[in-house]
Amino acid sequence: MQGCIFCKIVNGEIPNYTIHEDAHVLAFLDINPHAKGHTVLIPKVHAENLFDLNKELSKDLFLSIEIVMEKIELVLHPDGFNVGWNHGEAGGQEVSHLHIHILPRFENDGGGNVHSIVNNDGGMSVEEVIKLF
Ligand code: 5GP
Ligand code: ZN
Repeated sequence: MQGCIFCKIVNGEIPNYTIHEDAHVLAFLDINPHAKGHTVLIPKVHAENLFDLNKELSKDLFLSIEIVMEKIELVLHPDGFNVGWNHGEAGGQEVSHLHIHILPRFENDGGGNVHSIVNNDGGMSVEEVIKLF
């Protein structure tokens, strides 16, 4: 999509440090790393978020997560990982092209875990929420 920074990376208009690429996905080092080896994995086609991505490509993307993690594991030997993505403005998404953050974790790196993203139950109990489903 015109104006999309990650589409420009896919098209080679902006340089990147690629660590994995196939016909459908590209994984490259984040320009502003929050961890050693912080990588973003994207589908090559423009999709703002997971809901917009063709299901077959979603499968490719998910399988690629493991390939990228294995590459990082071999090279950087992290002690763990956090993997996830920011979906929508409220979820902290800044680049409107779906991207999976792969964050290698190291003992005593000072980071948190998924629970540190948000801690606000909106004033609803689990029993109230399940009734909505
Ligand atoms: P978001 O907040 O949208 O989930 O994260 C966007 C990520 O893309 C950020 O971590 C940011 O550092 C990264 N990023 C933005 N522009 C570029 C770029 O031009 N090159 C690379 N390699 N990463 C970028
Ligand atoms: Zn794009």
